[in-house]
Amino acid sequence: MTPPQTLGWVGSRRLLRQLRDLMKGGGSVQDRLNHTVALIADDMVAEVCSFYLLRAGEMLELFATKGLSPEAVHRTRLRLGEGIVGDIAAHARPLNLPDAQVHPNFAYRPETGEEVYHSMLGVPVMRDGRVQGVLAVQNRASRHYGDEEVETLETVAMVLAELLSSGELAGTMGSGSFNTSDAMPARFGGIVLNEGLAIGQAVMHDRGIVIRQVVAEDPAVELQRLDLALKAMLGQLDNLMARDELSDGGEHQEVLETFRMFAEDRGWVERIREQLRGGLSAEAAVQRVQIDLRNRMNRVKDPYLRERYADFEDLGNRLLHHLLGSAGSAEDRGLPDNTVLLARSLGPADLLDYDAAKLKAVVLEEGSPTAHVAIVARALGIPMVGRCRDVLARARADDIVVVDGVTGQVLLRPRSGIRESFVEAIRAGEERRQLFAATRDLPAVTRDGVKISLQVNAGLLVDLPQLHASGADGIGLYRTEVPFMVRDSFPDVAAQVELYQRVLDQAEGKPVTFRTLDVGGDKSLPYWADTKDDNPSMGWRAIRIGLDRPAMLRQQLRALVRSAAGRQLRVMFPMIAEVSEFVRAKHLLEREVARHLAEGGEAPTSVETGVMLEVPALAWQLPTLFDLVDFVSVGSNDLLQFLFASDRGNPRLARRYDILSPPALSFLLSLARQADQAGVRLSLCGEAAGHPLEAMALIAAGFRILSMPPTGIGPVKLMLRSLELAPLQAYLQHLCRLPHASVRGSLRAYARDRGVVT
Ligand code: PEP
Ligand code: MG
Repeated sequence: MTPPQTLGWVGSRRLLRQLRDLMKGGGSVQDRLNHTVALIADDMVAEVCSFYLLRAGEMLELFATKGLSPEAVHRTRLRLGEGIVGDIAAHARPLNLPDAQVHPNFAYRPETGEEVYHSMLGVPVMRDGRVQGVLAVQNRASRHYGDEEVETLETVAMVLAELLSSGELAGTMGSGSFNTSDAMPARFGGIVLNEGLAIGQAVMHDRGIVIRQVVAEDPAVELQRLDLALKAMLGQLDNLMARDELSDGGEHQEVLETFRMFAEDRGWVERIREQLRGGLSAEAAVQRVQIDLRNRMNRVKDPYLRERYADFEDLGNRLLHHLLGSAGSAEDRGLPDNTVLLARSLGPADLLDYDAAKLKAVVLEEGSPTAHVAIVARALGIPMVGRCRDVLARARADDIVVVDGVTGQVLLRPRSGIRESFVEAIRAGEERRQLFAATRDLPAVTRDGVKISLQVNAGLLVDLPQLHASGADGIGLYRTEVPFMVRDSFPDVAAQVELYQRVLDQAEGKPVTFRTLDVGGDKSLPYWADTKDDNPSMGWRAIRIGLDRPAMLRQQLRALVRSAAGRQLRVMFPMIAEVSEFVRAKHLLEREVARHLAEGGEAPTSVETGVMLEVPALAWQLPTLFDLVDFVSVGSNDLLQFLFASDRGNPRLARRYDILSPPALSFLLSLARQADQAGVRLSLCGEAAGHPLEAMALIAAGFRILSMPPTGIGPVKLMLRSLELAPLQAYLQHLCRLPHASVRGSLRAYARDRGVVT
């Protein structure tokens, strides 16, 4: 992928030269800052140029100005987020305003005398991804600053960032720049990127990038340095890819190959060269392109595209290390055996630099579940929690860190009681894992002899070994959109055939239910135009796209039919709201089967079709539906949000409505009864199936097939092997008549009293 093109910045060489001389010269930081703002104001023909420093306590202080009243220097202060300057710092993005005074965030400070200035351009001063201050120019006239002016100011902001790193201001700057010295315990809430519990010693993924020379002495030499560094970086990536533990060809291999491809991206490299020609040193040119990418990334909402931008950023960091001669392997650093790695963001190759045997967990300030690094963490089995804002500012090397990759919490310097209870939880977890492993080959059957089929949900090839490791009966939900989302372009039929064949091969004859693409809304693909639905989960997604734009769905069905030649094929359509949608989708599949046969292809041994029941309307068409389908699977994640009109991604509603409530359970009971009468296979494949207490209630409601994340199989099997089902069925009928918001407590007490292991 090539990042979007920038307008070529040729740079203000004169200004850069002047700044270089200024940096080289002596004088206090204050003197040099005063000089700098004056130089910028002259060069950009701005009436005002000011620099605000982010001080401790998240306070921005006017530190140097040309144009504003000198009395305001060191007096005018704005909180982070306050005023336009505070807004720029809080969001780490430039603001270009023809009339700043009409901006809703404008905060007037009479001592500055700025009421006469209308236009304003401000950029954050960043170092190592952290805001250190804000640099701004202002003019009386109302004008829009051009792209070149924005780029000039951003380049100068880089120079300033290096000046600030001189140490003279240390201790006065904000927590965004310096670790606090407090030794108090701290708790951070983030999102789980890979499950697991861990405790260990903090190790900062300290990129330690210090750029001492921003302006090139000799552009030809810089070009040569850049080329050498690029070559060295590519060589190192090749070595990583050749490593044994990654040579099995799973997605993590693909991820690294994509990453390697980015590294050779001509657009990216060319952009760096362009900056070099503008007068920057090789390292400053790389950093300049990174700042540009980060600005763009901040404007992009699509999580996939954001991750791809992050890939370029990681590459930039690697390249900087090569340029600055600090590219040694992270293993060389002598890691403790129980390392918990803390980083703002981390590339997949960065993670592989570390010795996986010593890495107990990873904590990121950024990151998302579809990030390449999260995929690699899953492949290596390393617990990972992301989006822990400010964790780096609060942590110190060697701190004890507890990572709870189940709830997404991270504890720094936990008190001894908490620490011990975690060590205990990890030990108990290990014991339970061994217990689950021991049940692997035991039948999934209740004490009164009711057989339950336990299946796994999967989406990536790295999930597949879990099918056999957990002893599950098959894959009840294969989310086909997941591999589409970690790719760079829409996979063609051949690529899809290869993927689905590998899934079927690895399933070794166990049934696999392929769900067709559930994309659209918030799960948008980069090669699919964003529809900008106001309400994405109720928007143009899943089968709605498949039927409106059938080419994509037909290609997928073609690939599924081809991959299942001589084997069983199960296809499930997502978000079906009315029977007619299923009829049309099934018709497309039948056409693809006919086409495959007409081309002389081998037929699948059987073709079964079904729907996900996620939209409540479908529950009022069951007799008609049951006549047409082979199976129905309840997608409780979506169904619950539609039943209760409660967004599944909204944390404020997360505990408000319960699947273990009279309305939800009554709905499921009625569904199970009707499916049973019609003789149609019914399963449930939402996350709830993997929680023992929920699974207990679902079985009592009549479900005999549950598909869940692989980690749920052991606990659910243990539960049902300790359960006498018949009395619970009667009790559930009673619970469904209660006027309670939830019957969770009653079910928990029931399980406890009868020794059911939940
Ligand atoms: C569901 O909605 O329950 C489901 C399994 O599908 P997804 O979570 O992929 O939307
Ligand atoms: Mg769903």
